[in-house]
Amino acid sequence: MFETVIGLEVHCQLNTKTKIFCSCSTSFGDKANTHVCPVCLALPGALPVLNKAAVLKAISFGTAVNATINQNSVFDRKNYFYPDLPKAYQISQFTIPIVEHGELFINVNGVEKRIGITRAHLEEDAGKNNHEDSRSLVDLNRAGTPLLEIVSEPDMRSSDEAVAYLKKLHSILRFLNISDANMQEGSFRCDVNVSIRPKGDEKLYTRVEVKNINSFKFIQKAIEYEVERQVSAWEDGKYDKEVFQETRLFDASNGTTRSMRGKEDSAEYRYFPDPDLLPVFITDEMMKDATQIPELPDQKRARYISELGIKENDADVLISTYESAKYFEDLINDNHEPKLCVTWLNVELLARLKNGATIETSPVDSSKMNQLLTRIEDKTISQKAAKDVLDYLMERDDSVDSVIEKLGLKQISDDGSILAVIDDVLNKNPDKVAEYKSGKDKLFGFFVGQVMKEGKGAFNPAKVNELLKKKI
Ligand code: ADP
Ligand code: MG
Ligand code: ZN
Repeated sequence: MFETVIGLEVHCQLNTKTKIFCSCSTSFGDKANTHVCPVCLALPGALPVLNKAAVLKAISFGTAVNATINQNSVFDRKNYFYPDLPKAYQISQFTIPIVEHGELFINVNGVEKRIGITRAHLEEDAGKNNHEDSRSLVDLNRAGTPLLEIVSEPDMRSSDEAVAYLKKLHSILRFLNISDANMQEGSFRCDVNVSIRPKGDEKLYTRVEVKNINSFKFIQKAIEYEVERQVSAWEDGKYDKEVFQETRLFDASNGTTRSMRGKEDSAEYRYFPDPDLLPVFITDEMMKDATQIPELPDQKRARYISELGIKENDADVLISTYESAKYFEDLINDNHEPKLCVTWLNVELLARLKNGATIETSPVDSSKMNQLLTRIEDKTISQKAAKDVLDYLMERDDSVDSVIEKLGLKQISDDGSILAVIDDVLNKNPDKVAEYKSGKDKLFGFFVGQVMKEGKGAFNPAKVNELLKKKI
């Protein structure tokens, strides 16, 4: 019997406006080489200056994961050559990272587990090589973008735990608003380290690193494939030959991993402190500011349950993304009843999001939903009619009130029109009225039904009940 051991390295792009050592913009998707300057082009003599915003964001992260924040840390040069790295070294942190000894908690199948975070350090991103048919083009817009590299302890024992860790990490970054953590755009990139060992064995066996996998699903697949490969090598007596420290690539087209290169040792990078940068010193003042962090998903979940009376499952859905928690709180801040908000967000809106639409891209944003809930609560429309309004708004841009008008959904609450119908219904059914009066209470429902039917669903049911009771 074998046990899987997984440790994860995540490179997360911090969402600062400018790069980490120069004032070029970090904006994504622009024309190649338009956000460059002597520093990020590595022109001789240009000197880096540290972006304070990147440091503050790293401190917030450290705070969120209960880590030690090293108020003194150092930038080192990691030397290697690659066309997207014009300096031939990356500025990173090696000996003293800004953040160390953190933790986060995951929950898989109802079991809570602590995952250690070894360290998180600041570094600069490289540029990008774009390969065309017969040539490769280098785009340095990304060179110098601030990254926080977050390294976990080898604490995960299954692909489910690895994915739970990544999702938790992802949501912490989003709730802290320190990264877009957009996997498609590469602002949340993950390297997976996988090894196996006989169950009960405490020692760590050879790890294989699978690089840059850009979706949770692929990460799961890459781990599962890698475990299978290592286990069969062991069982076939070929473990020593086939499993060695190396970097592998995940091939999404067939769900396998293949060898990319032998794993380099840190000694090969010839790390040394960057003489162009002073050691980083974080003042107590900066610590005070940056350790004030927004409410995190776990805290929100607890508060929704205890203060707002939300069910656990519903709370889980609400905090599953930053956007849905934000949407929900927009509704709560507009003073709508919490349970009504949950129904209209978790049930009605989510069911209507189709074709990859998310809460973020939903045609009905929280301010429109606010209008809709207001009209339900002030009884202008019934909940049933509100569903028609929502259907309409998912397809066309319009205001809630104008849709209510267009679809003729306004509930009628004025006594006069309802009373007229009540009289009519009672006159048409003299025998039923007599039966009711002689004690057949159940007939009340029949009268309500008739009146509502005549009102074509536009009558406010509470009002109908009230008036009918008086009248009969
Ligand atoms: P490198 O940059 O050389 O990959 P790091 O220290 O940055 O080294 O990352 C090492 C990662 O590998 C960590 O996440 C660690 O938990 C994980 N790891 C170390 N040993 C093992 C192992 N035997 N099996 C699985 N993961 C491991
Ligand atoms: Mg690594
Ligand atoms: Zn620059």
